[in-house]
Amino acid sequence: MSEIMNEAHRVTTICNACRYCEGFCAVFPAMELRRTFTDEELKYFSNLCHNCRGCYYCCQYAPPHEFQLNYPKAMAELRKETYSEFAWPGFMGKIFKNNGMAVFGITLAAIIVLLAAAIGANGVQAFFTAYTGPESFYNIIPYSVMLVVFTLIFLFSLFCLGKGMAAMWKITGSKPEVFFSLKNHIQAVKDVLVLRYLDGNGEGCNYPDDRFSFIRRKFHHATFYGFAGCFVATLIAFFYDHVMGWPAPYDFASLPVFFGTVGGIALCIGTGGLAYLKFVMDPEPYDASTTSMDNAFTSLLFLVSLSGLLLLFMRSTSLMGLMLCIHLGLVLGLFLTMPCSKFVHMVYRYAALVRNAQEQRDGKA
Ligand code: SF4
Ligand code: SF4
Repeated sequence: MSEIMNEAHRVTTICNACRYCEGFCAVFPAMELRRTFTDEELKYFSNLCHNCRGCYYCCQYAPPHEFQLNYPKAMAELRKETYSEFAWPGFMGKIFKNNGMAVFGITLAAIIVLLAAAIGANGVQAFFTAYTGPESFYNIIPYSVMLVVFTLIFLFSLFCLGKGMAAMWKITGSKPEVFFSLKNHIQAVKDVLVLRYLDGNGEGCNYPDDRFSFIRRKFHHATFYGFAGCFVATLIAFFYDHVMGWPAPYDFASLPVFFGTVGGIALCIGTGGLAYLKFVMDPEPYDASTTSMDNAFTSLLFLVSLSGLLLLFMRSTSLMGLMLCIHLGLVLGLFLTMPCSKFVHMVYRYAALVRNAQEQRDGKA
């Protein structure tokens, strides 16, 4: 058994005897349905935990007590191990070891390839020409390239995430029928949409320090709904272009631009705020080895939304080609790294909430 798993067993056994934190989050009620814990169940717990830190600042056994109990850190360390273990294809698991550099390198390569291809195909003068009207983006990157490359990579990454979720379900010993219960998904979706466990029982999380605050929840909401807004904008634009035959770019008053702008601003605020909180937070209840993974993900989301907004305002200028390649390169980097970046936490946490919904309804593990 690894040291990390050993520590997860040690702290969970102490907590299950104490049970002081039972109202804080989904982890403790799940713990209380069990008398002993398998490695698989602790991997499930680690993905239910979202590092709110409530159980660290209230704990009578936290450092400097001799038990040195640091439950959020133990769960964060184990959670990172599960990301590698669940990854599909297996080699992607290795990318979590030096995640920040990998995400940065893949994204930079995507930008450089797009820039080189666009300049190579069009020539420098055409690349820096101001285009206006429908299909102006296709003067820089052809329609067929945008459609085929981006769709294929996005679908492949979704497939990898699906395989990762299936691996998580199997490795954590979750029953298949639990996943196919509509009731469980309805409850899990509700929990996600309101970020139920980030409210610390009505007082807020202990984040970025020991004081109760809703600030992390607000930035998390902005990030989640900002991302959703951008995704909706992309879907509408896809429908307009490929079904209705109305090619981009669209008017400022159009639905894709509306959702993209509101979503992009919210995403910038949310990811910027989360990055700031991470910078000023108390580092004790945290696994410092995840810093590069966390920062790479929030930075990438921030840059995708910022570059999208800049493209909107520069689309009629001679810098449109440059901005388009940078924005699409960042989007490509996001798509390529979805199965091997912090993005996976959305998938595994959701799966853990689905299982938790069934357990809490049944009152048994
Ligand atoms: S974190 Fe501390 S206070 Fe909370 S249940 Fe565990 S031992 Fe008890
Ligand atoms: S850090 Fe928060 S979410 Fe994680 S186990 Fe402790 S109270 Fe629960």
